[in-house]
Amino acid sequence: MSSNAGNGKVVCVTGSSGYIASWLVKLLLLRGYTVKATVRDPNDSKKVDHLLNLDGAKERLHLFKADLLEEGSFDPAVEGCEGVFHTASPCRTDVKDPQTELIDPAVKGTLNLLKSCAKLPSLKRVVLTSSMAAVLCNGQPRTPEVVVDETWFSKPEFCREIKLWYALSKTLAEDAAWKFVKENNIDMVVIHPAYVLGSLLQPSLNDSSATVLKLLTGAQTSPNLTVGWVNVRDVASAHILAFEIPSASGRYCLVETVAHFSEIVKISHELYPTLPLPEKFVMDEPLMPKYQVSQEKTKTLGIEFIPLDISLREIVESLKEKKFLNF
Ligand code: NAP
Repeated sequence: MSSNAGNGKVVCVTGSSGYIASWLVKLLLLRGYTVKATVRDPNDSKKVDHLLNLDGAKERLHLFKADLLEEGSFDPAVEGCEGVFHTASPCRTDVKDPQTELIDPAVKGTLNLLKSCAKLPSLKRVVLTSSMAAVLCNGQPRTPEVVVDETWFSKPEFCREIKLWYALSKTLAEDAAWKFVKENNIDMVVIHPAYVLGSLLQPSLNDSSATVLKLLTGAQTSPNLTVGWVNVRDVASAHILAFEIPSASGRYCLVETVAHFSEIVKISHELYPTLPLPEKFVMDEPLMPKYQVSQEKTKTLGIEFIPLDISLREIVESLKEKKFLNF
């Protein structure tokens, strides 16, 4: 993806030091955009140095301090922006207090950000990073013939019932966002990435990459989960295209392949025979079945989808380079 589409345009990326947002900032700078990037602590070199070292950063990257839970926190960062990419949201599943650790920052944070956007005469579009977790969790059976698409919505009551707190946070945040943008006449597009793979730009390990690392470092069991997988570069590109293409609208599911966690280990083993992976997983229940996710709408953005084996290679090489993996 290369063009100068961003020349002279100013956009904001929230949570910019994160896994997905770092790639988004990198690709936006490459396209010529001026990026106002929010972080919680602009003085934390572990969070910002990799951003400050990106091509174009010296000239066109500006860091802003902002916290999801502080009202008005995003005002300075969004001022003068045509596009706002809202990726900041806690992305983890292991929490003690779902309300304060996940739901409040996701929902109140999204509304805080949108309130800042509502005041903006310059704003053309908000692109919100949601998740397939806000699409899939509705209790409808998923079997090989079922094709999930953008008309699917997770149900809060189902998420609560089976304690899918991360999915609940993303579902409630998306729902609150749609209500707010309709009432305030804001143009918004929502991106729903599946489980993200690919190289890490940031030095620390984000939660989803940590789960993949755990799988690759010899866990004897894998979660009995069949999920979608997608490359982080496609996720970042989809955000940018969703902003740039005037006719883009509504929701976009981003899934290259649907595969069980144990298949990820199997493919990694084939790619890297010396990786110390378990030969076989102990699974005492039937594997969660596969399902399909439609790529039709997302392909209209021009996303071709990087294949799973390349995404896996990229994350393995990146984890090796950052010394999280030694083999
Ligand atoms: P990540 O690396 O953990 O990034 C999350 C970002 O949110 C971080 O920059 C974090 O800031 C920021 N954040 C969290 N709480 C905040 C708060 N109270 N105030 C301000 N910023 C806060 O995770 P990621 O994987 O890139 O996730 C980014 C987005 O993609 C999230 O919306 C997530 O739900 C979505 N997503 C991720 C995946 C995946 O597989 N990774 C899949 C689908 C959707 P700090 O750096 O200061 O902590």
